[in-house]
Parts: sequence; structure tokens; C-alpha cells
Amino acid sequence: MKVLVINCGSSSLKYKLFNMEDESVLANGLVERIKLEGSVLKHEPLGKEKVEISTEIPDHEVAIKMMLDALTHPDYGVIKDLNEISAVGHRIVHGGEKFTGSVKITDEVIKSLEECIELAPLHNPPNILGIEAVKKQIPGVPMVGVFDTAFHQTIPQKAFMYGLPYEYYKNKGLRRYGFHGTSHQYVSQRAAEILKKPIKELKIVTCHLGNGVSLTAVKGGKSVDTTLGFGTVSGVIMGTRCGDVDPVLITYLMEKENLNYEQINDILHKKSGLLGISGVSSDMRDIEEAAEKGNKRAQLALEMFEYMVIKYIGAYAAAMNGLDAVVFTAGIGENAIQLRKNVCEGLKFLGIEIDDEKNNARGKEIDISKQNSKVRVLVIPTNEELMIARETKALVY
Ligand code: ADP
Repeated sequence: MKVLVINCGSSSLKYKLFNMEDESVLANGLVERIKLEGSVLKHEPLGKEKVEISTEIPDHEVAIKMMLDALTHPDYGVIKDLNEISAVGHRIVHGGEKFTGSVKITDEVIKSLEECIELAPLHNPPNILGIEAVKKQIPGVPMVGVFDTAFHQTIPQKAFMYGLPYEYYKNKGLRRYGFHGTSHQYVSQRAAEILKKPIKELKIVTCHLGNGVSLTAVKGGKSVDTTLGFGTVSGVIMGTRCGDVDPVLITYLMEKENLNYEQINDILHKKSGLLGISGVSSDMRDIEEAAEKGNKRAQLALEMFEYMVIKYIGAYAAAMNGLDAVVFTAGIGENAIQLRKNVCEGLKFLGIEIDDEKNNARGKEIDISKQNSKVRVLVIPTNEELMIARETKALVY
């Protein structure tokens, strides 16, 4: 059984074709700059040379067609016929309160997704375009939607509510939704496998530290709290996003600097975080390098990042009344050795002790804690696409 996983953004499309017999990747690729000048498809077939095709890609339908043509191409394709694709799994950003797990996509589901557009105006529309385009190109192939928000639907009300008038929750759906759910779910399940313990018995904090950052408290396999909220800026500072700020600062800035909605939104999402504090870059590698050379603002950005990760791990240990494991994942979590060490040193009071030699690893699955550490500390590369492929297989068969 072959499952195609698609992640459709506003100007990009990422795809991976899995052979689910052994979960191997037959091909993966990326279409960039859809609707823009300089569009390109980059296709990496298993065991064959990579190809890059630059041509005009005016919309998502053309992008999907190019991807399917690449997958079936006589030279660089990996399947003979589109019939070999048994199912398609779509990553969908927002499922609101309606979707608490993955779903088989029907016309009714598409309608419900359209109702969620208000909650994710930038992300859900391209996700829907991707679904419609696949439906047109390979009609009849079963499709499954896997939501970034679904894993967090188990968060109890006391943790997902904001202290705003209740009507805003009831009538407008203003609440914490959380994101990166597929990643948190994947690494928490993997952690249980590595630790050889039933996930039902574990209290884990999963730290997804990439360009976007979120930490999740996973108790008994279920998300019970997470740092991203209604939108994608809260919690720890990120590449360009501000993390937690006193909401009064926003109204204050709007008034004093005479900023409109677009301008304040731009500051919170694109000009803050590591970039805004350091003035150097949004990329953690650049921040580490500048900090090393003595750049004070880069050092501050790094310290703020580490401090907030420590603070939330502590908070979530309290929220779960215990902690068995901490998992680091995504670009920073999987690679930033010194940052992991600093975070763990700040959590010694919880009985966390890591082995510096084991911690000296990048991008691989490893338990970096000392034998006698009360809490296990794991590095687990995330694999959202595989998780989507598994969910798709499970719902289709
Ligand atoms: P996205 O959220 O876009 O998927 P990633 O998970 O790829 O992002 O993470 C990107 C982040 O990971 C960047 O800040 C990058 O600097 C950081 N990163 C990647 N490799 C390293 C490394 N070797 N050391 C420190 N940070 C790294």
C-alpha cells in the first residue's frame, strides 16, 4: 500500500510518497513559489538523481499535476501508474473544536473545513485547495485529513480557556487550540516505545523547538496543555514571533505608535522573537554564532529562549503533578547541543541529569540522560509526514 502525504501551503507544496509495507519513503519533493515568479518543483526519487523543474506554476492545481507527473515519470518517477496510490493524507492546520482526530475527507468534511477558515485564514484555504486539486486529478482515491490542532483537543477546559468574557469562547470560539499536534503525538508515542513503558503511565513534556516553537504536557498519551494558543505566537519566543507578551502592550503600542491591525500583526509575527531581540537573525545557528563572538543581544535572545523553555517544562511538571520524560525535537531541539545542556541544568531540581557525551549528538534518536536521572531526557527527530501516513492508512483500511 502506497500513501501520498501532502502539506499544502499558500505558495508551497511539500509531498512524500510512502510504501506502507515497510514505511519507507519512495519519493519526496517540494513545489516552491506557486503563483509567484521563479516557481520550481524539486523532486527526490529513491535511488535516482534529484530533479528540478522550473516552469510557471500559476495555481495549486498545476502544482499537484506536476507532482503527480513527477511521481509517474518514466525516468525519475517511482510508480508506473497513479492507481498505485492507495490513499492521500493531507496535513490540515486548523480543525477547530469539530475535529478531535483525523478524518476521512468527504464533501461534508470540506464544508466544515471551510467553516474553520476564520480561525486559520492563512493556512486552511491552501489546505482546502490541495484537497480539491487531488480530488480532480485522481478522483475516487480515498483522502484523509490530519489536523495540527486535533491532538490538543483533550486539553481540559480549565487549561484551554482564556480569562476573557465567556461569550467570546461560546460565540466566537476564542480559546487555546494549540498546534504542532502531529509532532507532539509522534514524539510522545515514540518516547513510550523507547522507554518500553505503556504511554498511559507516562508524564512527558515534549519540546518542539523549530522555527515555530511549542511545548506540550502529555499525560497518559493525551495533551493536557500546550504553549501555542488561539494563534501561533504565544509561549516561548520563536524565530520571528514574540512568544508571551502582556496583552496590554499590544493596545499600548497600537495607540502610542499609531499602528493599525496589519502593522501590529507584522510586529508580533515577523519582527519579534530571536530576530527582534538580537537584531541578527531568526535562525538559531546564526544566533549561537553571534553569541559566541560576544554579541550581547544575541546572548540575550539565547538566554530568553532557554529560560522560557525551562520555565514551561517546570510549569508542565506541576500541571501533570510529575514528570517522567522530556523530549527535544525539531531543528533546534534535535541539534542545539549547548542549549539542551543549559535547559537541563536549569531543571536539576527535578532530578534531571544528562550525560554530556550522549548529548553530543545531532539529529538522531537518543536517550541523553544519565543512568540515575529521575527523569529521562530524549532527543527524537520528529516525523510528521510518517504520522500522517500512518493515520491515513489506519482510517482507510
Ligand atoms: P520549521 O519550524 O520551519 O520546520 P525546523 O524544525 O527546521 O523549522 O527548525 C529550524 C531551526 O532549527 C532554525 O532556527 C535553525 O537554526 C535550527 N537549527 C538547525 N540546525 C541547527 C544546529 N545544528 N544547531 C542549532 N540550531 C539548528
